[in-house]
Amino acid sequence: MKEIEGIIIHQLAQKEKDAMLSFLTNEGLLSIYARGIKDNKSKNAHAVSVGCLSSLEINEGRLGGKSLKSATLITYLGENLKSLLDYACFNYALELARKADEAIEDKESAYKALHTFLAMRKEDDSIAHLLAYIAQILIILGERIKIDGCVYCDNKSEIVSYSLDDGGLVCQNHFDKGRMEKESKDQINLLRFLFMAKQEEASRLNLSLIQYLHLLNQYHIFLKDNLGIDIKSFTLFKPFFQ
Ligand SMILES: [Zn+2]
Repeated sequence: MKEIEGIIIHQLAQKEKDAMLSFLTNEGLLSIYARGIKDNKSKNAHAVSVGCLSSLEINEGRLGGKSLKSATLITYLGENLKSLLDYACFNYALELARKADEAIEDKESAYKALHTFLAMRKEDDSIAHLLAYIAQILIILGERIKIDGCVYCDNKSEIVSYSLDDGGLVCQNHFDKGRMEKESKDQINLLRFLFMAKQEEASRLNLSLIQYLHLLNQYHIFLKDNLGIDIKSFTLFKPFFQ
């Protein structure tokens, strides 16, 4: 038996009153079978709902299967999910944490990044923190975006766009209008900030929802097409794109 701290990021109902928990820890993602937690009388239920930072006592079977013995709530990180936008951000982040885990080697940094997102997000800046979280995950996956000059020639001036596919900013000379769109100063600076500042500093960002969504959409396509990480929760953002 071992006891380990982490965040519940997913719950999948199983037969009768059981569930399979996805539990993110600084050792990576664990799947834990939790018996009876859908029962009203379960003493562990309150500590294993999605968004709980909890300490779990886990039994390991001879074949490596893990099951929950007991759960102690440390703090609930899904507090104040009042708006649909905040709810969408919360779900997107948890799904990304779950789906990126396999490709991530530095489990400790990935865990810390999710914890920072959940602890820092507030109703009005949840999306800024989501973008900062995704930037951290990309860095951890070795997909850091070059933001100190053009990705082709290192030119520091005349930056007119960026390309996530190419991995950096793009200057006027290397702008390829067949594949790229010109980006506003705000969008370029947003990307710079996210790959330069500390994740928690996203609280300082002050852009419009449309500007945040523009980058979220680009990130989303990049994750799906280049890294094979398809985040279904993206559909929760649909109403905001209209
Ligand atoms: Zn260039």
